[in-house]
Amino acid sequence: MHPASQPNLFEDETTYFADLILPVPIPSLFTYRVPRDMASMIQVGARVIVQFGSKRVITGVVAQLHTTPPVKYQAKYILELLDDQPIVTAQQLGLFKWVAEYYLCNIGEVMNVALPAGLKITSQSKIQFNPEFEDDHLLTDLETIIVEAIKKQDALTYEEVERLVQKTKITTIIKSLVGKRAVILFEEVKEKYKPKVLRKIRLTAAYLTDDALVALTNSLEKSAKQQEILLRYLSHVPVYNHAELNQKGLDKSVFSQDDSLSDSALQTLIKKGIFESFEVFISRFDDIPMGKPVEIHLSEPQRIAFTDIQRQFQEKEVVLLHGITGSGKTEVYIELIKAALSGGTQVLFLLPEIALTTQIVVRLRKVFGDKMGIYHSKFSDNERVEVWKGILDGKFQFVVGVRSAIFLPFDNLGLIIVDEEHETSYKQFDPAPRYHARDVAVMMAYLHKGKTLLGSATPSLESYYHAQNGRYGHVEMNIRYGNASLPQFELINTKLEKRQKKMKNEFSSVLLAHIEKNLVQNHQTILFQNRRGYSPYLQCEECSWIAECNNCDVSLTYHMKVGELRCHYCGHKEQVPRTCPTCGSPKVKTMGYGTEKIEDELSILFPQARVQRMDLDTTRAKNAYQQIIQEFEQGQIDILVGTQMVSKGLDFDNVSMVGIFDVDRMIHFPEFRASERAFQMVTQVSGRAGRRADKPGSVLIQTANPAQPLLEKIIQHDYKGMYAAEIEERNKFQYPPFTRLIKLTVKHIDANTSRRAATILAEKLHVELGKSRVLGPEPPLVDRVRNQYLFDILIKLEREKINFKAAKTFIQEKVLDVLTDKTLKSIHIVIDVDSI
Ligand code: ADP
Ligand code: ZN
Ligand code: ZN
Repeated sequence: MHPASQPNLFEDETTYFADLILPVPIPSLFTYRVPRDMASMIQVGARVIVQFGSKRVITGVVAQLHTTPPVKYQAKYILELLDDQPIVTAQQLGLFKWVAEYYLCNIGEVMNVALPAGLKITSQSKIQFNPEFEDDHLLTDLETIIVEAIKKQDALTYEEVERLVQKTKITTIIKSLVGKRAVILFEEVKEKYKPKVLRKIRLTAAYLTDDALVALTNSLEKSAKQQEILLRYLSHVPVYNHAELNQKGLDKSVFSQDDSLSDSALQTLIKKGIFESFEVFISRFDDIPMGKPVEIHLSEPQRIAFTDIQRQFQEKEVVLLHGITGSGKTEVYIELIKAALSGGTQVLFLLPEIALTTQIVVRLRKVFGDKMGIYHSKFSDNERVEVWKGILDGKFQFVVGVRSAIFLPFDNLGLIIVDEEHETSYKQFDPAPRYHARDVAVMMAYLHKGKTLLGSATPSLESYYHAQNGRYGHVEMNIRYGNASLPQFELINTKLEKRQKKMKNEFSSVLLAHIEKNLVQNHQTILFQNRRGYSPYLQCEECSWIAECNNCDVSLTYHMKVGELRCHYCGHKEQVPRTCPTCGSPKVKTMGYGTEKIEDELSILFPQARVQRMDLDTTRAKNAYQQIIQEFEQGQIDILVGTQMVSKGLDFDNVSMVGIFDVDRMIHFPEFRASERAFQMVTQVSGRAGRRADKPGSVLIQTANPAQPLLEKIIQHDYKGMYAAEIEERNKFQYPPFTRLIKLTVKHIDANTSRRAATILAEKLHVELGKSRVLGPEPPLVDRVRNQYLFDILIKLEREKINFKAAKTFIQEKVLDVLTDKTLKSIHIVIDVDSI
């Protein structure tokens, strides 16, 4: 709301009330009283500080101003007004409300994910002396003590003040001090992420000529360890003939990871003045070159797609851009963004989490420079608050961000682009709101009277269905930019190879030969195995015991490098047992394989190859992901082994082969979307190969059953065939897009109580919804997590037949019935609307 449009209500003597959104789990807004001197300043969308309960002081956002006192309680006064301008826009308030209603959660929960922590204040907020305060005589004795203490300390938290006066109820005192203007409350924005420092080493200048290097290598003949370090350094940084490479040096951790190379040898080399160690400071986007925008001219197919999208936007709210990998969707996006911006509206570009740290941002940055805001969950809170405020004051008309960027304070969005719209990471699982950013985007664009473009090489079945039946517009790009060809597929029959004893562990002879060839030709290889760790389980050969998590019903994954067993559900870690804990046998073997094992085997099969792994475990640090991509781009890695992380929108020139393991497990995953997911995953990762016309790519898929129909469609690039087969199944068994799903998960530490509650809930649901729409209760695949027993109920509601809103209200009532059932204590029920 604009300040100008606010009626001048507040100059009379009327008492005003504000309905606030509070970050607490209550279903409705909470009404507070506006102090008279605040009345002329307070606006909808501004933040205020209020006392909630007897002790807590929290930040709320004004959703409404009016003159009706609440009936059921005495309204408390607002303590402090934080903003003289709204920081939440009217459109956002509308969106928050819609999200809360649609996803069956509290509006406070929506606000909680929306506002960066830096804009929220909790009891941690600080109390500071007001330097303009002069009316000492107004203070009580106790207040004087507190004020004196605060004066000395600069600032104190609520808790510190409590300790100081040894009272638990200080809010009234603080309130009174705020009222007397003796103190000010202020928010402290904490920097959560410290900049990362990378320790590196490089050769000192004296050794940069080839002669000096030869002499040095020879002189280290007698100290094997030191020589090895030197050689290792040279293998990573080929200084011979390329002295300039030395400048950047090598990450010190390359050496500390390896026990055989003692740290003391490296220290000696540094002491001798052969190596020098130095530090570099890395920040995520510091080294993103702004650069000069490169003149790009859309190719003919891109130009046609661009015009077609704009034409279809005349009639449709949403358009699906189905463009194969490498077709050049990004350039089309860029033109659309430019057009929207020059029309004076804001633009939001959503990307999946991991894709945001890559090349695409570099390209966008070149075009839009520092007018573009970047919103990422790995950013510090300061940076996020900066983007938020930058949008409010018009600095950023264009933001590229992850799913939570949907909650930024736009007030005039003309276009939202959702790239890789099929990505499941657009869905938030925990905590509430369990929203899908793509679906929220469509709603948000609608609230702004703007348009949504969904882009993908492998659209979700839902979006494609809407495009087919005319609800969405539909534009295709079917050839790669520059006429590069799509990669050639080859299916490798691992069953046959096993029988002929040609496999080497997980590697077929065909795959090995290809990797070999690629190494010789200096081409890069990507190997895809969608499972991290060394091996998914550890088993005793004698008694079949399997290492399992104490807290969850799932096997522990073996991580070799750290020598640990880890639970991928709750994070529990334990040592690897030397012998079987059940029978004492030493024959405890690793079974199955993950990325770490593939990496390990590669180092034995191809000792000369430079192998890098990319999965959750190697990319936890803030810049690790970007670092790996960069090294791969610069040709410092020959083989990249990774989970689905390697499939996200990466654009490399030199990758001529992609190898895929364990495709059968993906296809046969016990889940109705398994085929769709497998198709998407394999197509996306394959799309990394042969992106340049002069270097055609190939994709090798290892499977025990090459005759599977889905594989046939994958290798024919037959999305439409996959769609036709899948949509028929979905229709037959009434799954999305024909129905909407709501999943209820009942949790309790006692299995029987959990089952009983779930059964009661299901029976209550049957009454109105009928049995065929309510599946379960059934234990999920992993039915115990963090010591809670889980039961799922899946509700299928037909799209056209059922009034979704009414059904949701009914479901919410039944859930409440069970939660308030006195015979079922401490039951937990998670409601997931549009579960995926
Ligand atoms: P997609 O996202 O559809 O997989 P990209 O947008 O990554 O494809 O484009 C593939 C490659 O083609 C990129 O390297 C990109 O720089 C290049 N490219 C696309 N369009 C153009 C153009 N009009 N002019 C020059 N290069 C282009
Ligand atoms: Zn045993
Ligand atoms: Zn666990």
